[in-house]
Amino acid sequence: MKKRQWQGDTKCSFCSELESAQHLFFGCSVAKIVWRTLGAVIGTSYVPKTIWQVYSWLYAFLPGFYEIYTVGLAAVCWSIWLARNRATFEKNFINTPFEIAFTTSAFLDYWAGMQKPEMADNVKKGAQLLKRSAAQMLRLCEPSRAEATEREENEGIWDEW
Ligand SMILES: [Zn+2]
Repeated sequence: MKKRQWQGDTKCSFCSELESAQHLFFGCSVAKIVWRTLGAVIGTSYVPKTIWQVYSWLYAFLPGFYEIYTVGLAAVCWSIWLARNRATFEKNFINTPFEIAFTTSAFLDYWAGMQKPEMADNVKKGAQLLKRSAAQMLRLCEPSRAEATEREENEGIWDEW
């Protein structure tokens, strides 16, 4: 970010480390939790560390769905990016990384409509599973906040548009 004449803080919006695309989307503990939540859906606790690993990760754990790998990657990265921008520009910080996973689920559900009909159902199903996985993990981590966050997610997510 600094290299591109970025004027703002060069620290990550989620932690105290230096921000880079690599850190934001993969290295940051927030990103790792989002990937881990998605990993729980496809049955792995392994977390990808680069964009290219995402493809081999999906290839290994979600074989046969090649056409939707990019939409999955885009949904995760776009959700992280939006949360990062809200934190950076509006000082509106996430309460938990699972909020990002809920956003990812919402994007997947929304973008399912742009897939071929035979893939659309799979993307929708994936979105549902991701939402369930995030809710489950959220309950395990923070029992008291789970309900509030879920409600917020249902009501507020498209207001940003
Ligand atoms: Zn970070």
